[in-house]
Amino acid sequence: MNVYDATRMTDLLAGQGYDETAREEDADLVILNTCHIREKAADKIYSELGKLAVLKRARGDEGRDLKIVVAGCVAQAEGGEVLRRQKAVDLVVGPQSYHHLPELLSRVGRGERLSDTEFEVEEKFRELPQPSRARIRARGVSAFVTVQEGCDKFCSFCVVPYTRGAETSRGVEEVLAEARRLVDAGVREIALIGQNVNAYRGEDKGGKVWPLERLFEVLSEVEGLDRLRYMTSHPVDTTQGLIDAHGSLPKLMPFMHLPVQSGSNRVLKAMNRRHKAEDYLDIVRRLRAARPDIALSSDFIVGFPGETDADFEETLALIREVGFASTFSFKYSARPGTPGAEREDQIDDGVMRERLAALQALVESQRQAFNAATVGRTVDVLFEKAGRHNGQIAGKTPYMQAVHVNGPPEMIGRVAPVRIVEAGSNSLAGEIAEGEG
Ligand code: SAH
Ligand code: SF4
Repeated sequence: MNVYDATRMTDLLAGQGYDETAREEDADLVILNTCHIREKAADKIYSELGKLAVLKRARGDEGRDLKIVVAGCVAQAEGGEVLRRQKAVDLVVGPQSYHHLPELLSRVGRGERLSDTEFEVEEKFRELPQPSRARIRARGVSAFVTVQEGCDKFCSFCVVPYTRGAETSRGVEEVLAEARRLVDAGVREIALIGQNVNAYRGEDKGGKVWPLERLFEVLSEVEGLDRLRYMTSHPVDTTQGLIDAHGSLPKLMPFMHLPVQSGSNRVLKAMNRRHKAEDYLDIVRRLRAARPDIALSSDFIVGFPGETDADFEETLALIREVGFASTFSFKYSARPGTPGAEREDQIDDGVMRERLAALQALVESQRQAFNAATVGRTVDVLFEKAGRHNGQIAGKTPYMQAVHVNGPPEMIGRVAPVRIVEAGSNSLAGEIAEGEG
């Protein structure tokens, strides 16, 4: 979501005469797009701002200016506090206000320091800048399209409902128009994104409400668009309709990121997840019935307050039962303002560290087994960019595995069958199957 938002801000400012630079030393304006999800991510920004403040002072000595903007969910959560804590910051802007950036920056140009973190839910999707074809080309073969924002679920560990606001869906025609524009400019894969993307309930012009799978059906008919993906999904919004789409739409890739967080019903209840471990396993069973080769990915939190060794064992048991192709896992981080942070049964950091290490060892062995099982098979690869070595090109399998082959750069942007010959730790090595390239 932050990658998408950063692209949106860049597009918006490109229309105001700004250009991207690769190094902050060359910049007249630096925007830090921040994340509030865990303490570690939020802490980083003040050390980053400290470095930028030094750069700004050096600039001042040369008689040049550097404007510093803090955007994203830390901006949303802390607002004016950021201005007080770091004097070098000129502007604080929350995710709901990016469409105000040109106006806010002109006020900053006149010497104001300000914070804009009002919630304007109904304006969230308004005035999205339309990037030029050249800018889309420069971005590559695969693109994000945001379709949903915010969250009403209030898991007891999570800040998202407070920083991103209530669930809203972008209108159908807007989504389809953006997707078509991307494809016209050379994009071959689109990932629909949202904090709870499968809670999508977008309206069309006639006032009809569309579920996510209906978007996939229509996007499947767009010529030149080869692959559809989506993230992040919530178990309670995983309908049979969405599951069936995996069986009926070949362009919808056989991969699903479906966070479960824990395998213990006691912990899931305390987390306010509104699903049990068996509900999750049932979804997995139905997904595999619809699309037997589907690869699954998930998020896990270890050390939620009150989690016992037995609870943690249940998480490991769920992982063993499902078998994941990839995962993200985190130590619980107490976030101010969330119910979890108020609890008195916080888990010791050493225990969390041990549990995280055990969980990560297990999921890493599953990931490697999944990759090793691809060796010898021929799979379709969408080539996205030049590889690390001369003469190589790199892309992804339907299951999100990175692959490199020897091949000509003309194949970038195309899908071709590749025979996988070796599984490295982070990438598969393959050969373009005979008759291709
Ligand atoms: N909407 C998605 C996830 C959004 S947040 C869902 O419900 O699954 C992305 C991930 O960050 C979460 O899946 C969770 O694993 C992690 N996360 C969120 N809050 C956290 C916290 N307080 N401590 C540790 N991890 C957290
Ligand atoms: Fe956070 Fe996801 Fe729960 Fe919403 S559903 S509160 S985004 S973890």
